[in-house]
Amino acid sequence: MLLLNPGPVTLSERVRQSLLQPDLCHREPEFFDLQDEARTRLLDVYGLASSEWAPVLLTGSGTAAVESMIAALVPEHGRLLVIENGVYGERVAQIAKQYRIDYEVVKHDWMSAPDLAAIAGRLDSAQKRFTHLAVIHHETTTGRLNDLAALAELCGERRIGMLVDGVSSFGAEAIDFTHPALAAVAASANKCLHAVPGAAFVLVRHSALERAASRTYYLDLGRLAKLQAQRNTPFTPSVHAYYALVEGLRELEDQGGWSARHAQYRALADQAGTGFATLGIAAALPAEECSVVLRAYRLPPTMGYSRLHDGLKAEGFVIYAGQGGLSAEIFRISTMGSVRAPDVDRLVSGVAKLLG
Ligand SMILES: *Cc1c(COP(=O)(O)O)cnc(C)c1O
Repeated sequence: MLLLNPGPVTLSERVRQSLLQPDLCHREPEFFDLQDEARTRLLDVYGLASSEWAPVLLTGSGTAAVESMIAALVPEHGRLLVIENGVYGERVAQIAKQYRIDYEVVKHDWMSAPDLAAIAGRLDSAQKRFTHLAVIHHETTTGRLNDLAALAELCGERRIGMLVDGVSSFGAEAIDFTHPALAAVAASANKCLHAVPGAAFVLVRHSALERAASRTYYLDLGRLAKLQAQRNTPFTPSVHAYYALVEGLRELEDQGGWSARHAQYRALADQAGTGFATLGIAAALPAEECSVVLRAYRLPPTMGYSRLHDGLKAEGFVIYAGQGGLSAEIFRISTMGSVRAPDVDRLVSGVAKLLG
């Protein structure tokens, strides 16, 4: 079965085999070597200096990393502006609410790009100054790649820290870590890094960690950062998921790093889009507004999602539905993981066959 959902991904044989390494006690040096390699390699993906950035590992899915980041990095008397144009932006707002963080949301239609003028207006007209802005880099709901660079400019001019959910972009899209407004990026092992679910992480500036709040016990980013820097861990980590994460990171490096992965994903996404277009299936958004990781398509008028899904599953493909109000309108195809050009050809022929 080939997974075309946005994580977990179809594993390479190399990553799958890495799960079969020796059992490890998480209080032994062998485990801390593994943890150190994962942390170092996470910094290396975007060439970050350990003097400026801390890699913090967590056991959990991507949401654990996003929750840990939001709960810690908006300081006690801080104020957060959440940019929402999909399910994941909505989730960040829910997290802020749950922790009783002082926050506001700039809501958009789920097919729309962040409205920079409206966001600037909200930042400038606030009665109480915002200290942080949270945004989803790749809003997996629609495939839209939000313009981090433009938002970083807005934040930088106002000395606001930017907290980024990069769960479905880290490892395959450009992220300008040199921009001083960028305070942290949260992501997970099982998307563009091609490993298994269970390991997630936050890359955070030391300067942001210094002002971190402690609102949660298990997901306390400050505590996790401190202990991991001392070759320690507060709890039992998902050891086998760490094996896979390290192997996925080694494989990414061997394959040419994030920009090579970006090029590979782009070729596959364009191939799928071109193939679908010949069948009369239109992309939901213009390709230049989308990530290379996942693209959304309009469901053909003659076929509902479940028939398309079940028909393709019988051919060996798992595709992904639209979320919320988009479920009757779109379907989504992610080309993360071990996916090759011939797989995309078979997918397009599979759809052609179903459409008759
Ligand atoms: C997948 C994803 C998450 C995390 O979802 P989990 O189910 O916790 O892995 C968060 N944000 C974005 C943008 C995602 O695509």
